[in-house]
Amino acid sequence: MQLIDKIYINGEFVTPHGTELFELFNPATEEVIGTVRLADVEDTQRAIAAAKAAFPTWSRTTKAQRITVLKRMHAAVVACEDELLEAIITEYGAPAARSRWMASYPADVILQAMQTLESFEFEEQVGIARVILSPVGVTGLITPWNSDAGFICNKLATALAAGCTAVIKPSEMSAIQTQIITEALHKAEIPAGVFNIVTGRGDVVGAEISRHPDIAKISFTGSTAVGKGIVESSAATLKRVTLELGGKSPTIILDDADAAKVIPMALMAGFMNSGQACIAGTRILVPQSRLAEFEQAIGQAVANVQSGDPRDQKTEIGPMVSRRQWERVQGYIRLGLEEGARLVVGGEGRPQGMEKGWCVKPTVFTQVNNQMRIAREEIFGPVLVIIPYRDEAEAVSIANDTDYGLNAMVLSGDLQRGIDVAQQIETGRVLVNTLAHEPHAPFGGVKQSGLGREMGKWGLMAYLEPKTLLVGE
Ligand code: NAD
Repeated sequence: MQLIDKIYINGEFVTPHGTELFELFNPATEEVIGTVRLADVEDTQRAIAAAKAAFPTWSRTTKAQRITVLKRMHAAVVACEDELLEAIITEYGAPAARSRWMASYPADVILQAMQTLESFEFEEQVGIARVILSPVGVTGLITPWNSDAGFICNKLATALAAGCTAVIKPSEMSAIQTQIITEALHKAEIPAGVFNIVTGRGDVVGAEISRHPDIAKISFTGSTAVGKGIVESSAATLKRVTLELGGKSPTIILDDADAAKVIPMALMAGFMNSGQACIAGTRILVPQSRLAEFEQAIGQAVANVQSGDPRDQKTEIGPMVSRRQWERVQGYIRLGLEEGARLVVGGEGRPQGMEKGWCVKPTVFTQVNNQMRIAREEIFGPVLVIIPYRDEAEAVSIANDTDYGLNAMVLSGDLQRGIDVAQQIETGRVLVNTLAHEPHAPFGGVKQSGLGREMGKWGLMAYLEPKTLLVGE
């Protein structure tokens, strides 16, 4: 049993003023593995004050000085990758065999921010004016439990690259990861107050960050509902806001696709991070003319997907992060049946042999239309729907008939055809015949999947304000 009773303010690990305790569970065994002492509003205000005091000096550092700090951050985070992997498995049940990339992602995103900074120009001549990009100020960085260390590192490295200081509010559900990453960042000798980490409840610490007048910008990753609340509470002081929210991403399989080639890709996209991924491709659109073939082949492939103990090297899908999430996913499976969809594979309950733990049977529904709630709402679990379409135009129309627009995939036997369809999809990112990832390209959503972009120069720009300077004789 681990006791996590420290937060990080002004370069020091301190005991929170808050006294509320939060239990951490191993989702594979349902055992309590730790207790977290949560920060409160007073802790948050101290962290904001520390970040505010550090801003004048940090914002005036040179690009070279900031690159040196990011290099130290990168080295420190690389050194904790094994520890992070262990935490990700224990704390939220990420399957060991599939999660190495997740443990190295925090270091990768720091490297990305550093490389972006290296080639970034903070000043530009526009006609007779000089345009100077200045750091926006003290930032509030709020992250979800899934890949928490990755989101913390991405947001923090970008904020620091821009010359901003930060108060980070990680998810209380990923406190072990947060502790590991905080210790690593402490070793990187970042000046005191430049970053502060306050683990606490969203409606306490997160809410205080969202309303506090000394926070100039918020970068939030999490659910669409909470994101909307943050926009409302930050409106009083017109904070700059970047939101990375939920999704219900389509995977369009075109009628010329080779089923044996594309089904493994579609399932990889649908079941990534045990289905608990904002970019998961949870709506599989297939041509009506080949519906029966795809139902059969997808059913067969999913029946072989192993869901269970995350430490078993054969496991592809681990447990849901919490009992609440498990119950939510079970509720959606019941709802699918009530709405008239037909189960191809999976269903309610736990996979065979898993009496304990919050594992879900990988589930696929067919006879789904795009108006059903299981086709419209983010389930955040390994539950996919197959939706038939008559022609390409209808496929595009179904893909776009959603409140979300974060990610999409098009699978085709003809790359150019795939690209043509990809260009018609309303989304922040679209993949054609690939599962590749480019860390320097912008990432973010359209419609209710978000506001603004992270990564690359677009991510850095979101922490800067242009100032126009005109000078006389
Ligand atoms: P969540 O919205 O419940 O919580 C996210 C963070 O916000 C947590 O730190 C939480 O404590 C905090 N929070 C909660 N209430 C708050 C409030 N009133 N004010 C301020 N902060 C508050 O999300 P979650 O369950 O942790 O994560 C899953 C969600 O995140 C899914 O919807 C998923 O799609 C989304 N997500 C999006 C991306 C992306 O890049 N677009 C990436 C990962 C996850």
